[in-house]
Amino acid sequence: MDKEKNKEYHREYMKKWRKKNPERNKEIAKQSRDKRKRKRNEYNKKYRQQNKNKLLPQHKEWYKNNKKKVLDYNKRYKIIHPIKTKRWAKKSQQKYIKQNKELSNKRSLADYYKNKKLWISRYRTRRIVKRDPTLIKKVCKKCKSRKNLEFHHEIYPLNYDEIRKAIKNEKIYYLCIKHHSKIKKKCRKRS
Ligand SMILES: [Zn+2]
Repeated sequence: MDKEKNKEYHREYMKKWRKKNPERNKEIAKQSRDKRKRKRNEYNKKYRQQNKNKLLPQHKEWYKNNKKKVLDYNKRYKIIHPIKTKRWAKKSQQKYIKQNKELSNKRSLADYYKNKKLWISRYRTRRIVKRDPTLIKKVCKKCKSRKNLEFHHEIYPLNYDEIRKAIKNEKIYYLCIKHHSKIKKKCRKRS
C-alpha cells in the first residue's frame, strides 16, 4: 500500500514540475527522443549488416516497385538541402573513383574533351581570381551570402583578357550553392 502511495505522490510531483518548467521539460523530452532514435538507428544498421544477403534482394524488389517515388523524393531533397546533397555526392564520387580508377579516368577524360572549352574557361577563371581576388565581389549575387560560393558562368570565354572583361561586366560571378543549383536547373530546362 505504501508503495502505491509513494508512486502516486511522485507522479503528482512530476506533473507539477512539468507545468512549472515547460521549456526544460521539452528539452529533456527531445534528448530522450534523440537517444531512442540513435539507439534504433544503431540497431538497424547492425541488423542490416548482419542480414545483408537476405535483405539485398528484398530491397531491390522494393526499389523496382517504388522507383518513381524514390526519384521524386530525391529530387525534392536535392532542392531543400543543396549543401548536404553536394557534400554527399562528392563523397560517393570519390569512393567511386577509388574503386573504378581506370573507368573513371576514361570517363573524366571523355567529359573533358566533350566540354573542353568549358573546362578551360572555368580553370582560367579560378587562376585569375586566385591571382587577383579583388577583381570579383566574393558574395552571392542573389542573396549576398558569403558561404558556399561557386562561380557562375553566363558565358565561357577562353582568353584571359576576355575572362577578366566578363567578370567586370558581371557575366561571371559568384553564387551560393543554393542559388547556383537553381540557376543550373533553369539552364538545363531551356537547353
Ligand atoms: Zn545565394
